[in-house]
Amino acid sequence: MLQEILKELHSKGVMLVAVSKTKPVEAILDIYNSGHKIFGENRVQEIVVKQEQLPNDIEWHLIGHLQTNKVKYIAPFVHLIHSIDSLKLLKEVNKQALKNNRVIDCLLQMHIAEEETKYGLNKKEAEELLTSPLFHEMENIRITGLMGMATFTYNEDQVRQEFKNLKDIFESLKSRFFKNEDAFKEISMGMSGDYKIAIEEGSTMVRIGSLIFGAR
Ligand SMILES: *Cc1c(COP(=O)(O)O)cnc(C)c1O
Repeated sequence: MLQEILKELHSKGVMLVAVSKTKPVEAILDIYNSGHKIFGENRVQEIVVKQEQLPNDIEWHLIGHLQTNKVKYIAPFVHLIHSIDSLKLLKEVNKQALKNNRVIDCLLQMHIAEEETKYGLNKKEAEELLTSPLFHEMENIRITGLMGMATFTYNEDQVRQEFKNLKDIFESLKSRFFKNEDAFKEISMGMSGDYKIAIEEGSTMVRIGSLIFGAR
């Protein structure tokens, strides 16, 4: 299954984040040994333990909600944080990145789903973050794009509309705040159940778990 997905994504220039949450290190090693080195986890404690046990050249992506007081544990190694949803969190990432003498790449998580429970910013909040003086002082983070999760529904039209919305927000923020910054290019959208729609709507990065590792 992995090779089929990779072939499909490769032909479209879309990156795969293999979501390994709840799966044992052995399962991750199997995938790693087949040549794939980009993995996503949604819990800090789990990503830290796995990072210690697995090869150093894995790119670890934190895709789940991140609490400010836990940033310090992932700052030494995390490759991309998908879930920045406040200026306060970004400020802490910047602080911990500086301590580790790094620049940490981050995505702003946008709230695009109709469910209330999902984290993320709306467009206005993202604009406020990007215009704040504090943001412009941060030298140890880099915003490389946006992330979003569609509503968990069988209604494909709704899912498609939510992905379209994320793409629109991306284009709007790009032209207003990142016009000359090539690094702002990622749209992290699409999971096992909806990644095909996400790609049709402009995803550059999909986060796929159960389709690769089996049901959790
Ligand atoms: C678990 C998770 C995924 C992957 O979900 P699957 O349906 O297993 O592909 C993607 N993104 C986030 C934020 C997740 O928490």
